[in-house]
Amino acid sequence: MPCQSSDELKALVEEARNCTKNGKVADYIPALGKAREDDLSIAIHYPDGRCLSAGDIEKKITLQSISKVISLALVLMDRGQDDVFKHVGMEPTGDPFNSIVKLETMAPTKPLNPLINAGALVVTHMINGDTVKERIQRLLVFVQELTKDATIRYCEEVARSEFETSYLNRALCYFLKQHKMIAENTDIEQLMELYTMQCAIEMNCLNLARIGLVFAMDGIDPQSGKQIIPADIARICKTFMVTCGMYNASGEFAIKIGIPAKSGVSGGIMGAVPGKFGIGIFGPALDEKGNSIAGIKLLELLSKNYKLSMF
Ligand code: GLU
Repeated sequence: MPCQSSDELKALVEEARNCTKNGKVADYIPALGKAREDDLSIAIHYPDGRCLSAGDIEKKITLQSISKVISLALVLMDRGQDDVFKHVGMEPTGDPFNSIVKLETMAPTKPLNPLINAGALVVTHMINGDTVKERIQRLLVFVQELTKDATIRYCEEVARSEFETSYLNRALCYFLKQHKMIAENTDIEQLMELYTMQCAIEMNCLNLARIGLVFAMDGIDPQSGKQIIPADIARICKTFMVTCGMYNASGEFAIKIGIPAKSGVSGGIMGAVPGKFGIGIFGPALDEKGNSIAGIKLLELLSKNYKLSMF
């Protein structure tokens, strides 16, 4: 069992906080640029209900790319593996998350995995429902069940800010529609609305750690005993977290830390230590690959001190 007390965790947070000065807050989505560079917080959620935390844990963050794991789980439940993997592959890319290059150079055109933007846009377009409202509502209800927090919403300011500036994501969508990976009857503006709302789903570190815990426990909510996500789907999601969860730093992260994890440009990281606990981190200063610089440091310290690597 790592970390017996929040004090132990606090000391690790302070050590890791030193490196926030070497990172930079993402501002290509203008509303994200308002975050404080030296913020850092962490929560660890155990199956018995205990939760340790340190830092300003009540601060809310938007999920950004972390949401891609959750929409993937929902769409796998909605559509089944055969349909989903007809539209998106299972391989890491080695390219930045928003790259368009492989879509053009690989034939047939198919996003390499669901955690890069091209793949995530395809997955989001497969969420069941007739309207944007109905589909975001289904995703929110799923997130509320995972976090056990019925107050979870999306941040309208962040969603609008991304919607108004998301030219590259629109380009990916049109490219994918041309190549029939996004269905021909899809209205791309509506898809962008849904995707930016999904990325702007907002929560604190404790909520994030709780989602990590459900993935860690093979889709079971350990408190209620309910299987929220089928075990096979939780396994697929965790595998993608290992191979593609930390952008094009996933290989180094697997070697140095060895925990299924997914990061987002807001500075969030969700970790799922198999069979043990969930981790939620918020540290908005990012490294050059787009991962929370202090968040990675913190996970490195935790993994080393408590031998958390699954490998
Ligand atoms: N909403 C962001 C985008 O599509 C998510 C990217 C990320 O967190 O990696 O650009």
